[in-house]
Amino acid sequence: MEIAKAVAVALVPPVCAACGKSCRAEAVVCTRCGRRLADAEPLLGNGPAGLDRAWSSAPHEDVARDLVAALKFRRLLPVADLMAERIEWLAPAHMLSGAIVPVPPAPPRLRRRGFDPAGELAAALAERLDAPLEICLERRGSGRQVGRRRAERVGHPPRIHACGVAPRSALLVDDVLTTGATLTACARALRAAGSSRVVAVTFARRL
Ligand SMILES: [Zn+2]
Repeated sequence: MEIAKAVAVALVPPVCAACGKSCRAEAVVCTRCGRRLADAEPLLGNGPAGLDRAWSSAPHEDVARDLVAALKFRRLLPVADLMAERIEWLAPAHMLSGAIVPVPPAPPRLRRRGFDPAGELAAALAERLDAPLEICLERRGSGRQVGRRRAERVGHPPRIHACGVAPRSALLVDDVLTTGATLTACARALRAAGSSRVVAVTFARRL
């Protein structure tokens, strides 16, 4: 079985996680996509309410959007490390201090995929930065949300609670920053549990 798997890997040429075209062995993206991602401009600002600062490595478009989808829907774990690498290289040093706190996934019964891209990205970043990883937030499902249409759910902020004591300085990590409602709920929960500094980094940001 192992030999069959090795042969299959050798016969299937490596493909770019973003565009699907063939690329160098061991590479996550092809040269062209790598260059386009390198050209994307990071975004730094005050971020959603409750945060001290928020930084995103790229707008949620083009190669960055393709990589977010590759991690979320195709569970390509090397993509999480590529995202963490970009954050490590490009984020201002003052953004990368503190304990890394992943934005919590939806409760299992509300999750369709059973996979947690934010958690994978946070773990990869913690390893690269040699920073503590504190999984101290959890998201509770609201019975009222089940069966609601997405448009109706958006108006209801997620219910996020800290489990235990939160780190004094927290670095929230998520794959994509969308409306900011989730990061705001995370920041509130962290401050209520003892954090005095809360910043966020995300790989991509919807504009
Ligand atoms: Zn490509």
